[in-house]
Amino acid sequence: MDARRDVSRTLRTPLDLTEAGLATKAELPALEAVAARYAVAISPAMAALIDPLDPHDPIARQFVPSPAELEATPGELADPIGDEAHSPVEGIVHRYPDRVLLKLTHVCAVYCRFCFRREMVGPQGNGALDEAALTKALAYIAGRPEIWEVILTGGDPLLLSPRRLSEITRRLGEIEHVKIIRHHSRIPVVDPAAVTDDLVAALKSPRQAVYVALHANHPRELTPAARAACARLIDAGIPMISQSVLLAGVNDDAATLGQLMRAFVETRIKPYYLHHPDLAPGTSHLRVPVETGQALMRALRGRYSGLCQPDYVLDIPGGHGKVPIGPAYLSGEAVTDPQGQSHAYPPED
Ligand code: SF4
Repeated sequence: MDARRDVSRTLRTPLDLTEAGLATKAELPALEAVAARYAVAISPAMAALIDPLDPHDPIARQFVPSPAELEATPGELADPIGDEAHSPVEGIVHRYPDRVLLKLTHVCAVYCRFCFRREMVGPQGNGALDEAALTKALAYIAGRPEIWEVILTGGDPLLLSPRRLSEITRRLGEIEHVKIIRHHSRIPVVDPAAVTDDLVAALKSPRQAVYVALHANHPRELTPAARAACARLIDAGIPMISQSVLLAGVNDDAATLGQLMRAFVETRIKPYYLHHPDLAPGTSHLRVPVETGQALMRALRGRYSGLCQPDYVLDIPGGHGKVPIGPAYLSGEAVTDPQGQSHAYPPED
């Protein structure tokens, strides 16, 4: 690894990437064109994990922009999971009866090249939801007793200051029917030092269960510092679950995926979702076929503890919701065991 690399600050431009040894000068014009369309940010923790001598580095593949992002393919959608169609007021997505998304911010500590909200996240446009919009969003939740869970996402909600998060926790705490607050974040992995005692205290609610869903895609992301950040949350009584995206060249082999799930479980994070990649624009080079995902899930089932099994899910394009996509083990009167052998069920006499 090049000892001259400066990864002490977030890399935000193609020039930053060349100076950090993550792109060549010859690539600059193409990467400038990508950066003009989609936000770029690689946090110091993630930049330090990248081996610039490895052209297939799985961390670089998630964060270093590629000219392939300007190649749109048929079927790709600016809003692949249909957030807009289910947004009754600014900041809220209400797709399922018992829960809403509350999008407090559009900014992230890193920008993932496969993000399904890539057309909406970034430093451009609105930053945090302003006070008037937040009041309206909270009034929407307060007016619907069927909303049991509020999922804070964005953007990354844990980028907000502890003071701001504490205020959000307090205001959600005033809504009697909201029992669960769930934060979706990459922060414990991409900026572990940001998980301070103040941040943890700001997330805790006196009357609601608070969860953090961690987004990570490769076992190398679960560094000792990331695991310690997660431990600070979990030890404070905040259970954690995981979300990963199945990505070509990052985690689309059984050994890597298995190690990732084990790393979560070792960190006391229950594997929750493995997302089939969404049809986000310019991401075809990172997508895998559903059959590949199903084969990987079979391999996980056959080789790894039940604790290491996430649900493999697809967000149906157009906002029709999220469903598990297999593989199925029971078909007609035959059931397949983890080794792939078929058995009659109920057993024949
Ligand atoms: S952290 Fe989440 S919202 Fe932000 S770019 Fe990555 S996937 Fe998208």
